[in-house]
Amino acid sequence: MCTLTRKLLIAGNWKLNNTIVQSAELVKDLLKINCETHKIDIVVAPTFTAIKVVNDLLSKSSIKVAAQNAHWEENGAFTGEVSPQMVKEVGGQWVIIGHSERRQFFGEVEETVNKKVAACIKSDLKVILCIGESLEERQSGNTFDVLDRQLLGGLVGLDDNDMASIVIAYEPIWAIGTGNTASSEQAEEVHCYIREKLIGMYNQSVADLTRILYGGSVKPNNAGELLSKPNVDGALVGGASLLASDFCKIIDAALESIN
Ligand code: PEP
Repeated sequence: MCTLTRKLLIAGNWKLNNTIVQSAELVKDLLKINCETHKIDIVVAPTFTAIKVVNDLLSKSSIKVAAQNAHWEENGAFTGEVSPQMVKEVGGQWVIIGHSERRQFFGEVEETVNKKVAACIKSDLKVILCIGESLEERQSGNTFDVLDRQLLGGLVGLDDNDMASIVIAYEPIWAIGTGNTASSEQAEEVHCYIREKLIGMYNQSVADLTRILYGGSVKPNNAGELLSKPNVDGALVGGASLLASDFCKIIDAALESIN
């Protein structure tokens, strides 16, 4: 049931790293290594201030650009926020929503995550919706309850058509930036669970078509094993996306997994 082939997506989340100059250098390194391919989707997510430069440099490339967040309103008295339309204006085509660091440090909860997802979809942006449990939640046996809550809460009001623009990223918090990646079996178990959940929330076709990425200490040396699993449809990569050679090795691993 969980074996349909989906186009893999490798996304790099640069977080709060890289000035505009450094972002441009990283993109030039990526282009020099020439790791782009039409066989899989590749996305990079610089800081807001670097999106335009990165997008301009990638204009002839198949690599697309994401924002790491977006507010749900188009404009108004929301000091410090950036709207989906503004992301689009500088060339962003994707937005990462609900990253655990946003939930942990900036008070994002299901309701705000859901408003952001809906606003991005309305603005014709594609969304990477991040969900994942903490170590404590895993150890107390609550992983699936947490995922249910985040998945149901994040997708309120979104229909089958909207789901064509949504990718789910399973990112166990205990694996993010820690070097403790989930085993490929742990990732596959959760990805299968999420896909089954999508059947219940939507239908078989939506569940079959929705890509589910794994994120959490994905590195060149573990990407191949993780991506060999049938329900791991790509990776959301933090630290290893900051070095062009490592990011390209992960892309190579993704290509090898489909050959
Ligand atoms: C992330 O930021 O989404 C992430 C998975 O980070 P890292 O790859 O560094 O664990």
